[in-house]
Amino acid sequence: QTGLLEQIKETIQQKNVELLHLQFVDIEGILKHVTVTAEQLDDVVGGKIMFDGSSIKGFSPINRSDLYLLPDLNTFAVLPWTVEEGYAEARFLCSVTNPDGTPFEGDPRNVLKKTVERAAEKGYTISVGPELEFFLFKADEHGNPTLELHDNGGYFEPSPKDLGERVRLEIYRALKAMGFTIEASHHEVAEGQHEINFKYADALGAADNATTYKWVVKTIAGKFGLHATFMPKPVFGINGSGMHVNISLFKDGENAFFDPNDANQLSATAYQFIAGLLKNVKHFAAVTNPLVNSYKRLVPGYEAPCYIAWSASNRSALIRIPAKRGMATRVELRCPDPSANPYLAYAIIAAAGLDGVEKGLTPPAAIDEDIFHMSEERRAELGIDNLPENLGAAIAAFEDGEIGRATLGEHVFHEYVAMKKDEWNSYRTAVHAWEIERYQGKF
Ligand code: GLN
Ligand code: MG
Ligand code: MG
Ligand code: MG
Repeated sequence: QTGLLEQIKETIQQKNVELLHLQFVDIEGILKHVTVTAEQLDDVVGGKIMFDGSSIKGFSPINRSDLYLLPDLNTFAVLPWTVEEGYAEARFLCSVTNPDGTPFEGDPRNVLKKTVERAAEKGYTISVGPELEFFLFKADEHGNPTLELHDNGGYFEPSPKDLGERVRLEIYRALKAMGFTIEASHHEVAEGQHEINFKYADALGAADNATTYKWVVKTIAGKFGLHATFMPKPVFGINGSGMHVNISLFKDGENAFFDPNDANQLSATAYQFIAGLLKNVKHFAAVTNPLVNSYKRLVPGYEAPCYIAWSASNRSALIRIPAKRGMATRVELRCPDPSANPYLAYAIIAAAGLDGVEKGLTPPAAIDEDIFHMSEERRAELGIDNLPENLGAAIAAFEDGEIGRATLGEHVFHEYVAMKKDEWNSYRTAVHAWEIERYQGKF
C-alpha cells in the first residue's frame, strides 16, 4: 500500500491535482462525495475526513451521526474532464467507518466486502462482469431531461442512424483514462439506447467500476446536452435497460465453473450455483430490481426475463450460459437492472449462488424452448415459476426469505425494506394518468 500511496502522490504532483473528491454510495447506490484539497491527502488516507451520517438517507440516527471516510487507494483516479493546464481533480471511492475505526454496517461497500470475505473463507473469489445499458434523452436548455430520445438507431447500427457514437467515444476515453479496460461499445436494440462493456473484475472492483461508469456516463452525456438514464424502462413498448451480471467463482487460480468432461462443460459447483440463484431469486429481486419501474421491464417480449428458468443459450431465460468456456466460464443472470445498487446486488447474487454450493443443490432441467411464447399450462407442466410481478410482491418475498437479512445485515436490511415499502405505498396510492384515461370518461 505504501508503494501505491507513493505513486498517488507522484500523480498528484505531476498532474497538478488540486482537489480530491471522496466518494461513497448510499443504500440506494446513489453516489455522494465531499471535496477536499490535495494538501489534506495524509488526513484523507488516514481516514480522518468526517461527515454527517444522519444527512444520508438510511445511514445513521441524528444522535450517532459522525461517520468517517476511508479511501480505497486502488480507486484513485484523475478525472479526465477536469484536466487543464496546471489543474486537475481526482477521486477516491471510500468505505465508511464508525468513529472507532470499525466498518460502518450501513455502508453498502462494507456489505459486499463481508460477502467477499465469506466466499474467501471457502477458498473462492467472486468474479463479476456487469453489462449496464442506458438511454440518452435530450435535455432542455436548463439541462433537465425531456421525453425526447436522442436518436432512432437500433442494435449495432452505425452512424448516421447512431447519434450516440461521439458521446460513447468520449465516455470510452474518459473511462480508459481512469483505468478501465473497455471491451465493446454499441448502440442497443431500442432507439436512444446504448451499452459500453468493461472488463470483469473481482466483485468489489466490479461494483466500484459500475458505480464509476454510471457517474461518468451521466457526466459526459451532460456535456453533450443529453441526459443519460439508467432507469430500467423509460419508454413503454420498447426494450428496457438491463444490467446482466456475468458471475463465476475462482478457486486456486482456476475457474471453478469449468469442467471439460461435463456435457455442458460445467462443473458440479456451477450447477449448484445456478440452483442457488434459481432458488433465491424471488427473495432477492427487490435488490437487483429495486424500483416500481423495474417490474415494467420484466415482461414478455423485450429480451428481459420474467420466468425462473435457466438455459445454455436461451435469451428468454433468467439465466443463460454464455458460450465461452475455460477461464471465461460463467453464468449470466439477466434480471438485474442498472438502477440497482451494484454493491448490494453483487453481494446478494453471490450469496444466493454460494447458498446453492453450500447446500449442494441440483438445478431443474435446462429450458431451451422460447419461454415468452410458451403457454401457461406448458410452463406449469415444466414447473417454471414467475419473478415477482411488482415491487410490492418483491418486497414481500424479500422479507419472507433468509437471503436478504443474512447478506445485507440487520441495518441495511431494515432500512432497505422501510425505504422500499414507502416507495411502493406512494405508487400504490397515487392515481396515474393511465387510470384517468381508462376510467374517467367511461364510468
Ligand atoms: N435490453 C435487454 C434487457 O432488458 C437486454 C438486451 C441485450 O443485451 N441483448 O435485459
Ligand atoms: Mg451486452
Ligand atoms: Mg445489452
Ligand atoms: Mg448480456
